[in-house]
Amino acid sequence: MAGVNIRSVAKTFGETHVLKSVDLDIRDGEFISLVGPSGCGKSTLLRIIAGLEQQSDGNILLDGTAVDRMRPRDRDLAMVFQSYALYPHLTVAENIAVPLVMRRLNTTERSLVGGLFPSGRGKRKEIAVEVERVCEALSISMLKDRKPAALSGGQRQRVALARAMVRKPSAFLMDEPLSNLDAKMRVQARGEIAALHRQLGSTFIYVTHDQAEAMTMSDRIAVMMGGEILQVDTPDRIYQMPQDLRVAEFIGSPK
Ligand code: ADP
Ligand code: MG
Repeated sequence: MAGVNIRSVAKTFGETHVLKSVDLDIRDGEFISLVGPSGCGKSTLLRIIAGLEQQSDGNILLDGTAVDRMRPRDRDLAMVFQSYALYPHLTVAENIAVPLVMRRLNTTERSLVGGLFPSGRGKRKEIAVEVERVCEALSISMLKDRKPAALSGGQRQRVALARAMVRKPSAFLMDEPLSNLDAKMRVQARGEIAALHRQLGSTFIYVTHDQAEAMTMSDRIAVMMGGEILQVDTPDRIYQMPQDLRVAEFIGSPK
């Protein structure tokens, strides 16, 4: 389990202040959404937590330890990207196995990943069992031998979730994971992600520009605008007691 503490985190790209001293304490096991208009810094904040981007100032504690002391792959968290970022040349099962394979390979072998899977039968079996476990959890066992190009959007999204789950991370970072789905699929997938959160009990940090999505799924919502967090509160309180006109306008506006 992992609580995440964001302390005075700032980020500049050249002259642009993309994040201005962000503070946020995320509780262990919490489902928190980061919402706000496009360009307000949601993805940047998530990428800094994941170690894909370095903050310009401040620090982030993962279960009490500063993340810049940990290599990205040692962080006990998994990221799900908007684009899903699946490897087109690997099957579904191989895509899901990548995080497990990466953990077992040495540095040279890791650089060769892409068709390179461990040759030991014991290891292969172990990996296959783990892959099957997450495939069953997400009802995608029948897709294991397909390549991503042969999947629907909703199926790709499940594969990306399965790949994130396979290492049993304490925290999931999700960057608009449903934005490539049509409206009907999105509503269904919302329910599935919320159910996954209840089942796993992990911390979910969920980025969306869709206020309705955040309202239905989250324990708390952080409303961001212009690189700042304006309010962090339960969905009810955000809706009923916005502390800032900009929060009220964003929550009240149609998507
Ligand atoms: P959001 O996810 O809320 O839409 P982002 O975090 O992607 O916002 O981006 C916030 C701002 O930072 C935007 O103005 C974007 O153009 C800028 N930005 C993001 N990444 C970079 C980068 N690598 N270089 C320069 N500017 C960037
Ligand atoms: Mg974004």
